[in-house]
Amino acid sequence: MRLWPMDVSEISPAKSNSLGRVLSRSRKIKEAIKQAAVRLTSATAVLKHGKRTNSPVHTVEETIAQYEDVENEMARAADDLSQANTALAVEVAERVDIESELADVKTDLAETRDKLSESQTKEYEARQRALHDTLTGLPNRALFDQGLDHGLIQARRHGWGLAVLFIDIDDFKSINDSYGHGVGDDVLLTVANRLRSFVRAEDMVSRWGGDEYVCLLLEVRQEAEVTRLAEKMIGRIAEAFESSGTVLSIGCSIGIAVYPADGETADILLKNADTAMYRAKGAERKVVLFRDTKQG
Ligand code: GH3
Ligand code: MG
Repeated sequence: MRLWPMDVSEISPAKSNSLGRVLSRSRKIKEAIKQAAVRLTSATAVLKHGKRTNSPVHTVEETIAQYEDVENEMARAADDLSQANTALAVEVAERVDIESELADVKTDLAETRDKLSESQTKEYEARQRALHDTLTGLPNRALFDQGLDHGLIQARRHGWGLAVLFIDIDDFKSINDSYGHGVGDDVLLTVANRLRSFVRAEDMVSRWGGDEYVCLLLEVRQEAEVTRLAEKMIGRIAEAFESSGTVLSIGCSIGIAVYPADGETADILLKNADTAMYRAKGAERKVVLFRDTKQG
């Protein structure tokens, strides 16, 4: 019969540094010590009073021997518990280190992500700036050129017509001279917004520079539709508007070149639309098709 409920050696020292094993080992040792304490109490009663209890201890000599056994076992258990505690402390320290390493990695990741999205945003903004006019926000020449090249590819592939409209404000210099550059800028912005309101999403209106704008119309079926649209643009731009207390009415001239009749490349279409616009400047009709400039 053993006072010690289980052999402490059964509780194998945790070689593994697994926290689960260390904790389970500590629990078993605690339970073993508790059970041994119960046995010792009954053994102590036999030693003190020579009286028998329900315990399986029979004689005082036997009890003394077993008492010593239990003491040894308790000492081993204490030693084992101390080892388990050390293993536990090592395990906890390792986990705290891992936790702090994880926190560092998380911080690094968040910083990298922020830097990445910041640089992507900056790149996007720089690209936008490079392709748009600062004053009006309209696409600039570079973006227009891309749109025209792409439009011509589509037009050739599908057999569509395409139109380039060159638009220039009349006597713009005198607006600057009479009312100042602030009012001049207001005029440029107003014309940009009014032109923008005419084009569909797939079309494009750009600021070419100074008081010039170029508009690209895709999928043109009839030239008459293009000249009608240009006339409407002139009418809308001519509507009075007010800037810094001055009411102004702006005139403009529009030259049109249509693909493929007036040119098959971007350069020729732009050149011919510009030529038509200059013809419109001196004409009564403020909208001129390139074709008409060749008829004297
Ligand atoms: P025309 O009828 O022949 O077109 O004559 P115009 O007076 O409109 O003359 P032109 O088109 O040659 O002049 C354009 C003027 O636009 C010249 C320049 O000082 C002015 N300009 C160019 N860019 C800007 C700008 O961003 N803001 C302002 N306010 N003026 C500008
Ligand atoms: Mg002008």
